[in-house]
Amino acid sequence: MSSNMSVLIIYTGGTIGMVMDQETQSLVPLNFDIIKEQLPELNRFQVKLESLSFDQPIDSSNMSPDIWKELAGVIHTNYDSFDGFVVLHGTDTMSYTASALSFMLEDLSKPVVFTGSQLPIGMLRTDGRENLITAVEIAAAKENGVPIVPEVALYFENKLYRANRTSKSSAEHFEAFTSYNYDPLATVGVSIRYN
Ligand code: ASP
Repeated sequence: MSSNMSVLIIYTGGTIGMVMDQETQSLVPLNFDIIKEQLPELNRFQVKLESLSFDQPIDSSNMSPDIWKELAGVIHTNYDSFDGFVVLHGTDTMSYTASALSFMLEDLSKPVVFTGSQLPIGMLRTDGRENLITAVEIAAAKENGVPIVPEVALYFENKLYRANRTSKSSAEHFEAFTSYNYDPLATVGVSIRYN
């Protein structure tokens, strides 16, 4: 992965972006302006990372087609400036948003990788760190200068799926998504195996 790669992380809301406020001991949205301070692992990527957060991050049960349009607009506006995009989204309706975007973003030639988590990123056993870090790696992945996954995809718990084939299948397990009629686009273990 070369250092002139760039990925934009867009936080729409949902569990993944929550951290514990030490004073009040309640969960509050992470300040995405300082995401690299909060997640120092991100500094180890040789990828230029920028992030932006929706003004009012929402629980994904409040998602709407108007917000799909807003999200598509953010990607459209920034399309030429980045090699890939990671969209952080609540898990409950992530498949719907990701499917809608897969139809809205015509002629896509760059990765748009949706991810989220079952536990807030600020919690000890969170699945959010791995999901975010691997989603960034996939969004930046190129082979011979060409993006490996030039489509809207959804990454969760070691599997990358075609977004519009997914559905949330568990509120309990870290493996929360299933793609019933389409094999994963990639499986992640010691290395990322693209199919
Ligand atoms: N209720 C949350 C949401 O979908 C759950 C999550 O993020 O996983 O926004």
